[in-house]
Amino acid sequence: MFYARLTGFFGALLVSTMLCIGMAIQSVFLPGAMISVQALFQQDSAVMPGGFLTGCGRTEESGESIETKDSVRSDIVKITIVYDNETGKKGLRPDWGFACVVEASGWTMLFDTGADGALLLETMRALQIEPDSIDGVFVSHAHYDHTGGLAAFLNENGRAVVYVPTSLKDIRNVDHLVQADSAMKLHENIYSTGELGEIEQSLIIKTDHGLVLIVGCAHSGVPDILEAALPFGTPYALVGGLHDFNEFDCLKNLKLICPTHCTRYKSEIESLFGGVFVKGGAGVVLKL
Ligand SMILES: [Zn+2]
Ligand SMILES: [Zn+2]
Repeated sequence: MFYARLTGFFGALLVSTMLCIGMAIQSVFLPGAMISVQALFQQDSAVMPGGFLTGCGRTEESGESIETKDSVRSDIVKITIVYDNETGKKGLRPDWGFACVVEASGWTMLFDTGADGALLLETMRALQIEPDSIDGVFVSHAHYDHTGGLAAFLNENGRAVVYVPTSLKDIRNVDHLVQADSAMKLHENIYSTGELGEIEQSLIIKTDHGLVLIVGCAHSGVPDILEAALPFGTPYALVGGLHDFNEFDCLKNLKLICPTHCTRYKSEIESLFGGVFVKGGAGVVLKL
């Protein structure tokens, strides 16, 4: 668990560089977890990030055939960040990785699981979110800082349906597993973009204001994610890790931007979109 000992800028830089070159480290051992990450993932399931940024703002539909008419619109979406590189609430510990709990349409979903299951569960409990209250787990992509807490979480809640991108191969010991290779409905008002760029899926939530998009690292590119969401409606909010994204013009129509985790240009996004910028961090709660 050498990663946990890395602190400060150089540690973050090293980890960031490792992620950039696509190392999906899945051999992180979870102290105290009954299921180790090794037990969940077999070897050689590393994925490589794609380089496929396209222009943003294309408006034509992609031929998506998924049914998107929901009988009940979501009125309130609550997003609680439970794992992030920084903390937004006193007493919570930051760590490199991302996870948030999404409540919408009477359903509760854990989006990603951070790097360390013990810390994930500690933070959830500190925020009075019981693991047993989670209906589904959405794994954005195979990098360890998003999958590391999965085993520990499933030890607490084995009934949750786990949605993974198809590039996360050879996953084992999960009772209820769904692989999302293309856009799909998960629940009323809640969709996956399906795996984009052969690396990552993003979460789409329909609200009366437009779409709330939640991303892990946005390795597939923010423009591609925004475009993939268009068949479902107009993007309204973007929450999550944006990695090295710098095509800031793509964000101009959003009404809320909460860049978290690996986002390299947080301060630039804040200065450009200060009116709609929301600072992330473990413990931050967004109600949309
Ligand atoms: Zn990440
Ligand atoms: Zn990543």
